Order: sequence, then C-alpha cells, then structure tokens
Amino acid sequence: MKQVGILGGGQLGMLLANSIFTLGGRAAVYDPDSQSPLCHHVKTSINGPWLNFESLNQFFEMCDVITYEFENVESAALVSLEHVKPIYPSVKVLRTTQDRVLEKKFLLASGLPHTNFAVADSVAALRRQADLNNYPCIIKTARGGYDGKGQLFARNREDFLSVLDNPDNYWLDTFYGVIEDFVRLEAEVSCIVARPLRGPAVAFPVLENVHVDHILDYTLLPSRIPPSVQKRIKEIAIEATEKLDVYGLLTTEFFLTKTKSLSSLGIECDGWYIYINEFAPRPHNSGHVTRSACCMSQYDALARILLNIPLQEPMIVSAGTFCMMNLLGDVWIAQGASRPDAELDLSTLKDHAQVLDVVIYGKREPRAKRKMGHFVTYGKTPEGALSAAHAFRDSLKARKSIAR
Ligand code: AMP
Repeated sequence: MKQVGILGGGQLGMLLANSIFTLGGRAAVYDPDSQSPLCHHVKTSINGPWLNFESLNQFFEMCDVITYEFENVESAALVSLEHVKPIYPSVKVLRTTQDRVLEKKFLLASGLPHTNFAVADSVAALRRQADLNNYPCIIKTARGGYDGKGQLFARNREDFLSVLDNPDNYWLDTFYGVIEDFVRLEAEVSCIVARPLRGPAVAFPVLENVHVDHILDYTLLPSRIPPSVQKRIKEIAIEATEKLDVYGLLTTEFFLTKTKSLSSLGIECDGWYIYINEFAPRPHNSGHVTRSACCMSQYDALARILLNIPLQEPMIVSAGTFCMMNLLGDVWIAQGASRPDAELDLSTLKDHAQVLDVVIYGKREPRAKRKMGHFVTYGKTPEGALSAAHAFRDSLKARKSIAR
C-alpha cells in the first residue's frame, strides 16, 4: 500500500487524506502543529519545524511520494529532498507560485494574461513608483500574504504616498513585492486542473467565487458567466498548467472584468477580459464544492495522480447549482463558543434539506475570520442554492447554545 506524505495538516490535507484512504492508500502528515486537523486523523505524523532538514528527511524516508497542501512550505528546505522522494507538484513549481514576483514574471514570460505590475524591493523603490503607477493600484508582498494580508490599496497618488507614510504599515520597511493595477471586477473565478504524469490534463468546471473582506465567502458551480468565457478560461488554465510544468493539481484564480485596460495584458472573450490573478499548486478552498458536485472531486483527482490511478473527466453530477459556503470562527463565536474545542451546534441541520455536505475541520480555537468548516447546498437555480446556504449559516449563527 502506497504511503502519501502530505506537507501541511490543514483542512485541505485532511480532505486529501480522506480521498487517499478511500482509494486504498495511506497518508502521513508533516506539520509543526500537532493540533492541526489532519494530525488528529492519521497514525503517522511528524511535528517538526518547516526548516528542519533532519525531521523532513525522516518524513520523506517514511513515504513513497510527497505533496503539499499549502504554499508556505519553505521550498528552499525541499530542494535536496526532491532526490529522496518525488514531490508533486515539483519544488520549482512551489518556488514560483509562493513568490508573487516570480509568479508575475512567469506570467509575463509565458504570455499568459495578467494585470500590469511593477516590482519593488524597498519602501524607497515603492516611493519612486508613485508617478509611474496606474491608479487605483494594490501593493502586495511577494511572500506570505493570503486572504488579503500583506496588501494595501491606493486610490490615487496622494493616497499611495500616505499609505507609505502610515506608521501602521511598518512592515513596508522590509518590503519586497509588486504594485499592480486594480481591476474593476465583474467576477472572480477559479479553475482547477489535474495533470497526471502520463496522459492529458483535465480541467474542472469553472468555479465562481465571492469574497467578503478578502476571504472566500462562497463558491457557485456552475458559475454564472457565459459558457464561451468559461471555455476560454479552462483553456488558459490548462495552458498555464502545462507551461508551469505542473504534475498534480494547479488552481488558477482569475479576475474577470468588462472594462478594457490599455496597460494590461488581458485576454478578451465576448466582451469579457480575462486576467490570471495567482496560482495555487494544490487543492483549493473553492474546490470543496467538487466533492458534492463532480463525479471526481479535486481531492480524488490529486489522490489518483499520487496513487497512479487514471483520471476521469470531472463532470457535474446534476443540473442545478451547488453552493459551497465557508464557516468562519465568527459562527462559533456567535453561538457563544469561545473556549478551545467548543463544538458547533449543528441541530438546525434537520430543517435544511438542501444542505449536502457539512465539514468541520476540528480546529481547537474558534477565532474570528479563521476558516473552521464549510458546507455545500444544492438548488435548482443559483439564487436557490445561495439562499439555502445563507439560510443554513444564519440558522447556525442564531443558535445561542447551552452552557459553554
Ligand atoms: P489575492 O491575495 O491576490 O488573491 O487578493 C485577495 C483579493 O483581493 C482578491 O480575491 C480580490 O478580491 C482582491 N484583489 C486583489 N488584487 C486585485 C486587483 N488587482 N484588482 C482588483 N481586486 C483585487
């Protein structure tokens, strides 16, 4: 039985391990945090630091093949370990996609659509850009930013300079990253591509993502954008997977707008302009919905690649719409669950027949904005699926639970 080593024990790793088990494999996890969701479920785990070669090496020796479930695994630590056991996607892919500057340079060099950007390696370099930027613009750090962290928005030149001078933004003192044009978003979508070692890549249906406070709130499948635009997006996502040389999963996040920008390298399709925002070489939050909506989920696809099982075309299993909605720590807090390990009261589930898949990650501390779980609803229309999702989440929030 093959043992897959997963670097990172969060919810994406937990659901990947679940697919590995159901396909006859075994999973082991490496995560510095022994309380991370997957560590609760597997027999084999190592809780070492990301930069400790010895403990990483020990982990690699125990596994047949390695993958990762979040990008902030330090690629430098993995370079020499790539010769110990195969890593999918490769360390080169990880290195490019975990650094926004390298990622943008890759997009530029490969002729893939992206927003106009400039690189800056200090706050002085940012300041020199003030007269050169298009406005509005966004400043983004190269490393470690997620869910809107490490990002600053500027409406115009004055705003840009005052953002640089604001003492709250002290982290700009060691800035390395990009300044990019702000896109007037019509929609945000993602497209997950699975590429096996042998045989063609397959693209999942395009997922429509809606964010609140830079955090994914819900995903709709199918997305509401025109079929011709979806087709083009899938083609671009497959092209990116091949050009980046990904074996495993690649999620490409896209910005869609109807406003043409002269300075940006967008691809036009039936009045829509398509830009790649960024890549994630791993399962993606938006892809949770594929567990209910597709004949092969994103987790099954990656598990199959790692276990050498052929892929299928990830078709949607039913007409109608599926909606995945995140459950942040706020829902636990609304229920009055402030102590660690507090269980979410799910008793309203009995009144919500449209809810298909509830996943609670088992994170100990319910913090506001922390992703703690999610669920999927099904409806005949996008509005039906979405209102069912809101109704269920509201019912959870309204449930002021017993002694906690
Ligand atoms: P990111 O961390 O780059 O995925 O950005 C988080 C969110 O901020 C995105 O999902 C968008 O909603 C918004 N955002 C980031 N960059 C831009 C941009 N250039 N134009 C418009 N919105 C953006």
